[in-house]
Amino acid sequence: MKQLTLARSVKGVGIGLHKGEPIEITLEPLEADSGIVFFRSDLNASYKAIPENVINTQMATVLGDDRGFISTIEHLMSAINAYGIDNVRIVLNANEAPVMDGSSISFCMMLDEAGVVELDAPKKIMVIKKPIEVRDGNKFVRLIPTKEPRINYTIKFDNAVIGEQTYNFEFSKKNYIENIARARTFGFLKDVQMLRDKNLALGGSLENTIVVDESRILNPEGLRFKDEFVRHKILDAIGDLTLLGYRVFGDYISFAGSHHLNHLLTKEVLKDKEAYEIVSLEKANEKAYEKVFA
Ligand SMILES: [Zn+2]
Repeated sequence: MKQLTLARSVKGVGIGLHKGEPIEITLEPLEADSGIVFFRSDLNASYKAIPENVINTQMATVLGDDRGFISTIEHLMSAINAYGIDNVRIVLNANEAPVMDGSSISFCMMLDEAGVVELDAPKKIMVIKKPIEVRDGNKFVRLIPTKEPRINYTIKFDNAVIGEQTYNFEFSKKNYIENIARARTFGFLKDVQMLRDKNLALGGSLENTIVVDESRILNPEGLRFKDEFVRHKILDAIGDLTLLGYRVFGDYISFAGSHHLNHLLTKEVLKDKEAYEIVSLEKANEKAYEKVFA
């Protein structure tokens, strides 16, 4: 199985969540073993999507250094992962990726438009060899060895609209597009007002966020799935795990996870050389991984 990149460059435009201004995004092909690289054209600064370059995980996953930063990369990273793209350059003219509709479906459509090509190098994946867990009270994220990777995610909110939701996701591009990619980000009305007061989330609206108060959903169109909230958490987790630099062959299990816990998990995995193996998918072994990575 070979590494993939885009067949051609594609351009899009969308509003940034925090500033509320239009942002141009271009996805470009890259050569083998380059990984996922963000480029801020306004600063002439590149940031490889790896845990070392993550500088903030409070509201979103943010890459950066003393030159600047790029916020809200996780939905785009999630789509790139689902499409099995190993090498891609993402050019942005601002400090955040556009929020689009709050899900990853617009990025999936951009990737469909670009198409994929094989590069002359074997695909490499990360196979989880022993359980790694990060905990914060009763919240946790965990990766464990498996034969058939899946994500099992539970959220529990003290809110009548969301409540407790569990979703079990089996990896495949088709399953991702049908069940995960359209799940939107969500927020609580009281937090939206607080962010606005701080001049944050200026681009946030009912066009790109499910807004919930104590007893109802404010979006007139309602939900896309009855458990859209937990599905979006899976979308985020897939994006955050992509920072490991490879697609992961392991089960991911979480209760009430977050960008922060996912980031700590990627660092814990990379710290422990016995926790994983980087496997090159050659003819001899690719059958075992075909179902997930084909
Ligand atoms: Zn998200």
